[in-house]
Amino acid sequence: MRTFLLLVPFVASTAFAATERPEDRWNLADMYPSVKAWQEDGAKLESQLKAFAGCRGKLGESARRLKSCLDAYADFTKRYARLETYASQLHAEDTGSAENLELADKARQLGAQREEAISFLKPEILRLGRTRVEALLKEDKSLAMYRHYVDDIVRMAAHTLDTKGEGIVASFELSEGAAYSAYKILANAELPWPTVKLSDGQEVRLDQSAYTEHREARNREDRKKVFDAFWGKWKEFERTFGVTLQETLKKDTVYTRVRKYPDTLGRSLDRERLPPAVYETLIAESNKGLPTLHRYFRLRGRMLGLEKGEMRYYDIYPPLVSSSLKYPLDQAKTMVLEAVKPLGERYVSAMSKGFENRWMDTYPRPRKQSGAHMAGSAYDVHPYVLMNYNDNYESVSTLAHEWGHAMHSYFSNAAQPFINSDYATFVAEIASTFNEALLLEHALKNAKSDDERLLYLGSALENLRGTFFRQAMFAEFERDIHARVDQGESLSGKRLSGMYGEILRRYHGEREGVVKIDELYTVEWAYIPHFYYTFYVFQYATSIAASSLLADAVLKGEPGARERYLKLISAGGSDYPYDLVKAAGVDLATPTPYQAVIARMNRVMDEIEAIEARRNRR
Ligand SMILES: [Zn+2]
Repeated sequence: MRTFLLLVPFVASTAFAATERPEDRWNLADMYPSVKAWQEDGAKLESQLKAFAGCRGKLGESARRLKSCLDAYADFTKRYARLETYASQLHAEDTGSAENLELADKARQLGAQREEAISFLKPEILRLGRTRVEALLKEDKSLAMYRHYVDDIVRMAAHTLDTKGEGIVASFELSEGAAYSAYKILANAELPWPTVKLSDGQEVRLDQSAYTEHREARNREDRKKVFDAFWGKWKEFERTFGVTLQETLKKDTVYTRVRKYPDTLGRSLDRERLPPAVYETLIAESNKGLPTLHRYFRLRGRMLGLEKGEMRYYDIYPPLVSSSLKYPLDQAKTMVLEAVKPLGERYVSAMSKGFENRWMDTYPRPRKQSGAHMAGSAYDVHPYVLMNYNDNYESVSTLAHEWGHAMHSYFSNAAQPFINSDYATFVAEIASTFNEALLLEHALKNAKSDDERLLYLGSALENLRGTFFRQAMFAEFERDIHARVDQGESLSGKRLSGMYGEILRRYHGEREGVVKIDELYTVEWAYIPHFYYTFYVFQYATSIAASSLLADAVLKGEPGARERYLKLISAGGSDYPYDLVKAAGVDLATPTPYQAVIARMNRVMDEIEAIEARRNRR
């Protein structure tokens, strides 16, 4: 089951809230009153899985048979989702508890049992073929809710082998993760992290989390030191990282050939039936929008007090605006509720219901999972949100983001049968970034000073850069490296740095004198684990483009815009994600949404520059 994580994990907070009230903890008892009840439900799942074997070879017998088997499948999958959500959230609450870990393990076992029990389901539906499936669907109207589920299976016929072939493919899956496993160990644990001495005398061992903390250093010499030491270390392992990434790309190419697709990009997009034009348009439009990104870097340089043309790659992380403004939880909740008012009463009241009924575990605690996420798969219960709230504006923004996910799950679970409730990643980040846009609008409207306005604008600007342009840049690199390997080329670590460096320099406007990139930093590709996920990150960029256009329409009060948006977040996975977003009025295969997000970024910069101008006049 899926949980949606924040794109940028935040640095683990060391400050633990002293003010946690019982109502600031979530109530997992809404799922199960006790671990004993969980175990009883687990036993029920196991017996359902055993009974499901009776469906094997019988799916095409009659419409009635198909219906009863799919009903059983949906029912035990829903049960499993609840069991899994409970166990994983209990573990997230206290990662140090041995009992919690044991329960999470038990949930994993149940997951494996479920996989095993359903292994015949998709191949058998595929073998029935479209004509037979259509006939069965016609025969029994109550099968209609499974139409999308089965269509998504039978459409794969052209990319499926015979039984023997599929058996061979399946047996290779056992060995396919070797390169990524080696990568993870080296990149997260075994890399001999360098140590630097910062200007305040502090000695810092630069592992991944220390890097994300210290790259934001106010002192410019410190930032440079951190970059040089950190990337210097990655550079020493450039050849090894080249091998682990290339082996993963080659694995993808093999699957592309086996599955009879012309290229890996096409195969990956076809998983969600996304038109290739979505990907191509994203890259084309973000390249056209580079003057906006360059404007941002120039503005950043000015705000950091750098001379024109002095901006370096190590200057992109320190916060544009530092602020001591505090946002206690109750105030933050009120802010977010006020911000989402344009979505109407139903949306606002669903969110306040969640705020009031302990759907969220709010504050950091020792041994609690870091970052923020939303778990929305407990279908008959309600979504759960995990935060590590710490009273700053970033936390308010994260609150709006995660509750955007939560409302997406809430509305989809309410409107769809379980089988169609789980939405695709391609739509997920629309609901979260949409709320960030509403929060910005609300915060700006109510800001009491230019300093406060700058805080909101600066934060929005960083989000837009990190979620749109940076992910689009990654998407372009990913497209290019897959294409090369699909064509049989071999990519060494050095070659990967060369390709990445070219894109990095273009995005950062090195030729235009915007940001200078040291050769050493072009090994950054090695640090991005997403390149092992095969065409994943572009969905952050397409989502924020879609939500920019949708939020603009709702905020302008365009007739029908709110209703279309609410329909989208109530649609779950009832259709292919591109079509769902298109029905909401956003065609991600056209330039319009990408132009909307770029225009949004320009508007934010216009406002910042207006404040700058006001200040200079004084
Ligand atoms: Zn998210």
